[in-house]
Amino acid sequence: MPWHRACLGLLLAATMCCAAATGPERVLKRNSLGRGVAPFGTAAAAFRSISYEFGLGPIGGRLFQEIEVGARGARAAIRILGGAAPESIPPQILGGAAPDYDWRELERRGAGAARPPAGSTIQFPQPGFWEHYRWPIAGTMGFCLLQAALLIGLLVNRAKRLQGKAEVTLIADISARFVNLAPGEVDREIVEAQRRICELLGLDLAALWQWSMETPRIVTMTHLYRPLGGPPLPAPMYAHEHFPWSQQQLEAGRLIRVSSLAQVPAEAARDREVWRHLGIKAILTFPLAPGGAIIGALSFNTMRRERAWPDGLVKRLQLVAQIFSNALERKWAEEAFRTSEARLAAGVELAGLGYYEVDFGELATFADERFHAICGVPAGHHRGLQALEFGMAQLHPDDRQIMLDERARLHDGRIDRISIEYRYLHPGTGEKWIHHLAGVVTRSATGCAVRTCGVVRDITPYKRAELEAQELRGNLTHLARVNSLGALSGSLAHELNQPLGVILSNAQAAQAYLLQDPPDVTEVQAILADIVAADRRAGEVIERLRALLKRGQLSLQPLLLNQVIEGVLHLVRADLSRRGVTAVCELAPDLPLIAGDHVQLQQLVLNLILNAADAMATNDPGMRRLRLQTRLDQNKVRASVRDEGSGLPRDAERLFQPFYTTKPQGLGLGLAICRSIVAAHHGQLWAEPHPEGGAVFHFELPVAGSPDPS
Ligand code: ADP
Repeated sequence: MPWHRACLGLLLAATMCCAAATGPERVLKRNSLGRGVAPFGTAAAAFRSISYEFGLGPIGGRLFQEIEVGARGARAAIRILGGAAPESIPPQILGGAAPDYDWRELERRGAGAARPPAGSTIQFPQPGFWEHYRWPIAGTMGFCLLQAALLIGLLVNRAKRLQGKAEVTLIADISARFVNLAPGEVDREIVEAQRRICELLGLDLAALWQWSMETPRIVTMTHLYRPLGGPPLPAPMYAHEHFPWSQQQLEAGRLIRVSSLAQVPAEAARDREVWRHLGIKAILTFPLAPGGAIIGALSFNTMRRERAWPDGLVKRLQLVAQIFSNALERKWAEEAFRTSEARLAAGVELAGLGYYEVDFGELATFADERFHAICGVPAGHHRGLQALEFGMAQLHPDDRQIMLDERARLHDGRIDRISIEYRYLHPGTGEKWIHHLAGVVTRSATGCAVRTCGVVRDITPYKRAELEAQELRGNLTHLARVNSLGALSGSLAHELNQPLGVILSNAQAAQAYLLQDPPDVTEVQAILADIVAADRRAGEVIERLRALLKRGQLSLQPLLLNQVIEGVLHLVRADLSRRGVTAVCELAPDLPLIAGDHVQLQQLVLNLILNAADAMATNDPGMRRLRLQTRLDQNKVRASVRDEGSGLPRDAERLFQPFYTTKPQGLGLGLAICRSIVAAHHGQLWAEPHPEGGAVFHFELPVAGSPDPS
């Protein structure tokens, strides 16, 4: 046992014994002040005086208690001496006895209201009002509290219901306002709805962002309600820079529901930074995607405190987002329509077009001033279908039927649009060319046109220029033909000389037979038959020449390509043999007819044959073979002219450019003209090197009656 514990035990034992031997006055004093019980002023003094006055009598039990205290102190000292820690001894054992009081006496003396010192024992206590009634009072109060809690619960519930009802009413009202809203009022109405929602829900910010149509990454804030103000919001901005995570969520069609920035996932760090900068505490953002693709986002935020977004509220605000996105879509459609109308008007004006619309349901025509001017519609022809009927009446008689047929096809739905050029008899300026484009705006359930619109354009100047160009082309073609025939003149003279010689010698022989006596009539008849045949042959040559030398318009007739080739070969036969060229013909029998101009196709074949002969001019005499082939390829007839000449340059297309020539006396127009001839026949002409040397020129023409490839 440590020495200081032993000392403390002995000290305590001595103190307790003294206490037992001391009078009640001293114990009371020590009790009230020495044991650490809080003194209680006048009340303590009152008790002290009671003790002095009445001693042990009225208070009672003190002597026994003091003896008991002394005994307890001695026992405690023995425990400490036996090794117990002083602090383990209960203080009432160590601290001596507290005084006892008779409650009735205290009441009589008027000291009952004051509290006796702590630790005092009250004998014979009488319950007070509170002790008497505390349970009924507590029960009543508990009941009242329960009632109050119930009432508060009901009130809270009612407030919630009222709030929900107010939200539903507000959304119904917003929805009703947007139903028949003019596109020009949409923006104002959105901001007004944002304000009403924020006020009802205690929100601090509502913003609507729109995705740019041209640059999808750019978003622009177009509608804002922020009564508390705050740092400027970026508008327009690159969404992926400021709100990368939000952009991802919204584009995936997900809404953003954040009650506290602490909840935001780690990948949304940049978004959180921007929200924090803007002073935003809670976020609820809906994607606006009426047709599936995102067009914008509607965001509601708080700035003063964080807040939860209950499911019911989210559903209601989702409805608002839908109302906004539908209204915006309508507005954009209207704007797009107005823009395209403005563009159309500008285009119509720039292009010098006359515009008209016809409503066959209302029997009404709208035609602008330019339409009236182009068609020469007299003033006053504004009512009903007058303007349209006037225009139809002024069509050139040769073109009217084509236009009427086209119009009928458009109206009954066989075609969607008309594009036609016709001659028109303008009452003031005479005949002009008009290009007319028309389409159907509305059709009836049966497919008939109810509303049509169209434009007319005066193309007389272009048409004149085109006709002039056509004539020039014709002249050039003719010149080129004459030029080719000029090259043939030597052989042609020979071609003519031969039958003429035959005729001369036969005529001389006939004369001789007639001088005989009797004249040999039979022989003369045979000679005359030969003369007729030779004359016919000469006539044919002249006829072919005449046809080729003739200047004429393109006229497509059904013909056989083989006949064209044979005719040309006939013409050039003498020339080819003079040049030592052997012509080999491999013409497919029974080819179908093609639609072609006989003279122009002859010119085409003639040019290819003469070029082939030129290309072989330097070949050895035995190596000048010309091969002519025809064949049917699907619905086209193909002709090929092959030579064994010098071959083609790497870029064979160059040969078809006007004025490209490698010949000293060449014009370089032959192949260019050939191409325009083939194009006028809706065919193709091309050249390729032959694998065994030389060149092959192919041309293809569509079989007569096959659909026009263009
Ligand atoms: P031109 O005969 O007056 O030169 P073309 O237009 O008929 O005009 O021919 C242009 C050029 O194409 C010729 O000068 C020649 O160089 C080349 N050419 C045409 N046909 C052949 C061919 N069969 N083989 C090689 N080159 C050819």
